[in-house]
Amino acid sequence: MKTIAERFREIRERIERAAEKAGRDPAAIRLIAVSKTKPVSMIREAVAAGVTDLGENYIQEAREKIPQIAGPVHWHFIGHLQKNKAKYAAALFEWVHTIDRVEIADALNRRAGMEGRTLKVLIEVNVGRETSKSGVLEEGLIPLVEHVSTCSNLSLKGLMVIPPLATEPEEAREYFIKTRRLSEEVASRHIPGVSMDELSMGMTSDFEVAIEEGATMVRVGTAIFGPREM
Ligand SMILES: *Cc1c(COP(=O)(O)O)cnc(C)c1O
Repeated sequence: MKTIAERFREIRERIERAAEKAGRDPAAIRLIAVSKTKPVSMIREAVAAGVTDLGENYIQEAREKIPQIAGPVHWHFIGHLQKNKAKYAAALFEWVHTIDRVEIADALNRRAGMEGRTLKVLIEVNVGRETSKSGVLEEGLIPLVEHVSTCSNLSLKGLMVIPPLATEPEEAREYFIKTRRLSEEVASRHIPGVSMDELSMGMTSDFEVAIEEGATMVRVGTAIFGPREM
């Protein structure tokens, strides 16, 4: 069986190849290793292998694991966020990828202020218009961006998307393109305090397609840590 270090290196190489194919600088793509459900021992192995960015989905799990990981790790919250968990998210994470409504932005903003920190945030868009998914619908994006731009402890950096489940990576492409277009539309409005430099898109099954369409952050779990049981 391959080690985490070997898998991490392979994914980095695949990222480099995809970037080169798309005429992009591989250094502009951040690999977030998604460690949800995986034990602290595996996360330590990943950090020792050179992983600098880690993603978690569940606040309760993150509260247990994050304090046990030493080293200069950038933590990304990529799960669905509930208002009553905002205080933990604001204390534990540097990035929150899943802002999708005003109430969550307000709760995080208030808690970040109490912590004396500024959180880097992304807005999650539901470009597939799936009723089962979180994320703001296209028509709600600009009003939400405008609101987040007024939150003094949140720094809006871009958009995040989880495309509808697919059997082929190519099926995700249209959703990545749509998300990139939305981010360009937001950027063209030059809203003070808002940058659209980041596009968080692509997972184990489709990160190469996402890179071809402009991803600056890919969130890869299974290909680094192996399959999850839950
Ligand atoms: C679990 C998860 C990932 C990682 O998925 P893999 O298919 O294991 O790479 C990425 N993004 C989000 C939002 C997730 O919940």
